[in-house]
Amino acid sequence: MVDIPIETIMAYALENAIKYNGKTNQKAVLAGLFSAGLEKSEIKNIIPKLTDVLNKVNSITAEEQKKEFEKLNFLCSKREIREGLKELPNARMGEVVMRMAPFPSGPLHIGNARTFILNDEYTKMYNGKLLLVMDDTIGSEAKRIEPESYGLIKEGIDWLGIKYDKKIIYKSDRIEKYYEYAEELLKKGYLYVCHCEQEKMHELKIKGIECSCRNLPPEKQMERWKEMFNAKMGSMTVRLKTSMQDSDPAFRDRVMFKISDFLHPKTKNKFRIYPSMEFSWGIDDHIFGVTHVLRGTDHYMSTRVQDFIRNIFGWENPESIYNGACKIEGIKISKSKGTQKIKAGIYTGWNDPRTWSLQSLRDRGIEPEAIRQFIIDLGIKNTNITAPVEALYLLNRKIIENVPRYSFVENPQKITIKGCPYLETKIPLHPNNSLGNKTIKTTQEFLIPELDFDLLENQNYRLIHLLTFNSNRIGIRPRELSFISEEPTNEKLKFIHWLPATPDNIKIKLLMPDGKIKRGLGEFELEKLKVGDTIQFERVGFVKLHKKTKEELEFWFAHN
Ligand SMILES: [Zn+2]
Repeated sequence: MVDIPIETIMAYALENAIKYNGKTNQKAVLAGLFSAGLEKSEIKNIIPKLTDVLNKVNSITAEEQKKEFEKLNFLCSKREIREGLKELPNARMGEVVMRMAPFPSGPLHIGNARTFILNDEYTKMYNGKLLLVMDDTIGSEAKRIEPESYGLIKEGIDWLGIKYDKKIIYKSDRIEKYYEYAEELLKKGYLYVCHCEQEKMHELKIKGIECSCRNLPPEKQMERWKEMFNAKMGSMTVRLKTSMQDSDPAFRDRVMFKISDFLHPKTKNKFRIYPSMEFSWGIDDHIFGVTHVLRGTDHYMSTRVQDFIRNIFGWENPESIYNGACKIEGIKISKSKGTQKIKAGIYTGWNDPRTWSLQSLRDRGIEPEAIRQFIIDLGIKNTNITAPVEALYLLNRKIIENVPRYSFVENPQKITIKGCPYLETKIPLHPNNSLGNKTIKTTQEFLIPELDFDLLENQNYRLIHLLTFNSNRIGIRPRELSFISEEPTNEKLKFIHWLPATPDNIKIKLLMPDGKIKRGLGEFELEKLKVGDTIQFERVGFVKLHKKTKEELEFWFAHN
């Protein structure tokens, strides 16, 4: 039991009163206290204390309320309720139950993360419960269950900071449960076992004609059901008697169970008959007490089927909230292609940047809070939307903008600046001077990126943080470079980042989001970094140290 101190109750009550013209609202204050750790079971115990506090707050002037709140406002935890997310229909504080249902065919990518983060936001908003249900009842050759993905999915969800019920549910553990309900419905005449070939059935469905299996008596259906366990794959299915006259042919007598000899990574060949997702959810949303389901707008049919099943049992249906698909401009995600390429060794692993998996974003230096804010900003829309990946980068930049800056020179080219004094220069690790300085000794020789080197024209340039020089182009390649000044001159110059030409520089490998690799040298100071540190390479972008070997440092690129 969490004991909420009276000062905390006072803080939330004052905050609420100030927001609403001096009068408190008990419900709203309670909602605040949930985010301070109050549990549903303790509401009763806290009510007398709360009533006292509310009376006290209501009896003082608005002026006094503000004064008191200044002393206590630090006790109000940052509100978990986010702006921009509309309320759930028919949601009651403390009673919302939602579910995340990944199909374990690979790690989660940013697209899957959207639904999960929204689920998390809502269950936090209503102090509800969020379930993690591995939707692993069936796989096929085309859509395989990848055993590793169970762990990868959990890792991704944990990294996002999603709070869910600790007991993870695996649908593959529940197959026999689905059989029980199937038998009940077969006996009551709501399901039938169909021997008809798929093509013939398709034709009948379009014409709205019932097949001969449909009206066999329940005893016969049960006999067929038992036969089904030893029947050939594809030879029998269990269908739901919706209506062969339904206006939508797709809704007519849908398949609820089929035979599969697919070797399941968890249950192996223990089961051969698998329920459809519609059937399993029709049952499970009731058993788990799910109150609200976030669904894609391509799932209207699925909801209708699930509701149909629950209506047979007389169960309540959860509220469905539809969310359109989200395309992220500038990136290409294909989970199945990604998996193929990992298996073929074309991608380096589940965290290869080209997969856009959460692991890959983590390893590039994208912060989970940036992903969360990106998703919340998109909100819930029942149309398909497109968002530029730049919006995510912008949010991430705000979080990591104060990391130290270092120099990385891609394909370094040596230059000599005539007349340049030997210098020992203090360069701030960040322009806001919050991180101290590094000291760099230089001679007349420097290394600059090949790209800058090739473009040197007849004009002045500035080596960033160091000096201004003149470039005098003679013919196509040779140039004469000469020192002008240490102090910046008034003219607007093109900056070039650089390294002192010393043997101390460190070899750098930089993996880009498109899988390409950039190579070059970095300053000696980089040696101090630890794997997982995020820094900025000046004029290149934000990067995260991925691997450290004797020969080189490997960074992954986040964004510029
Ligand atoms: Zn049939």
